[in-house]
Amino acid sequence: MKKRVFSGARPTGRQHIGNYLGAIQNYVSLQAEYECIYCIVDIHALTTLQGVEGVKNLQQNVREMILDWLAAGLDPKKSILFVQSEVPEVTELHTLLSMTTPLGWLMRVPTFKEKVKMQPDNVNYGLLGYPVLMTSDIILYKAEFVPVGEDQLPHLELAREIVRRFNSLYGDTFPEPKPKLTQAPMIVGLDGVQKMSKQLNNHIELAATAEETAQRIMTAYTDPTRQRKSDPGHPETCNIFHLHEAFEPMKTKDIPAHCRSAQIGCVDCKKLLAQEVNAALAPLRERRHELASRPAYVSDVLSDGARRAQAIARETIREVKDRMNLIRKDT
Ligand code: SF4
Repeated sequence: MKKRVFSGARPTGRQHIGNYLGAIQNYVSLQAEYECIYCIVDIHALTTLQGVEGVKNLQQNVREMILDWLAAGLDPKKSILFVQSEVPEVTELHTLLSMTTPLGWLMRVPTFKEKVKMQPDNVNYGLLGYPVLMTSDIILYKAEFVPVGEDQLPHLELAREIVRRFNSLYGDTFPEPKPKLTQAPMIVGLDGVQKMSKQLNNHIELAATAEETAQRIMTAYTDPTRQRKSDPGHPETCNIFHLHEAFEPMKTKDIPAHCRSAQIGCVDCKKLLAQEVNAALAPLRERRHELASRPAYVSDVLSDGARRAQAIARETIREVKDRMNLIRKDT
């Protein structure tokens, strides 16, 4: 029997090549070996979105995201793909786990402190309870593995602690989710400094046209020490070179030497990258276009995913409530 993997991602709308190289490609490859459950965690998004204005694009963002996931190769026959709020058992487990999770553990979480600084006018309970909801997402499906990068290991360790505490109080119920470490590179944005992000507008959307992609790449920062074409470059510190490596590692093996000896200029190097990115993403973009013309199919994928996820979730909730003596026994 295949082991189970769970991962969730916030509905951020159209995905960019940082999401693709950093997470989605890995999601796709895990499907061959594991039973995968991939969730669009819309409730988590509410910790930072607020009010009618804040949530107005939520449904659109879910739709854009699932289109990118499906176009990239997530297969609803192999994986369960669903939206978090469509399986409300997760909120029930969140409440039950909140009774066993010490407050001090949550108050020490560095990301909570960061969020408090980032949104001082909206320090809601959800920000504090975020790790408990995240743990609920994973263990509701008794997932054994969670794909994470090194930087996310502390979050998963807290989830493991929450599991250990529940198990010690109520008996072995949940497996401790283990990290499935991904070697995916951290993709730097077009500003050449920060992680690629939609918020920072330093990204290239998977669904961009070939022309848009080329235009975006031409605006990218490169090696700042290279002022003139005749200056030798430093490809190891250049964002454009790292994207070459990610998309066409074989075809672009001469670039470092040509860059260091100033045989290639940054404009030509970027044009080459645009061709590589567009060639690599053309099949995905075609599939996405086709999927976008079949909204009923996409909606069915999510409904079916929610049904399958809920079947697992109900069993877990029943077991948890039984352990916590919350099921009435007629005498
Ligand atoms: Fe970067 Fe290419 Fe310019 Fe070298 S030639 S600095 S790798 S963009």
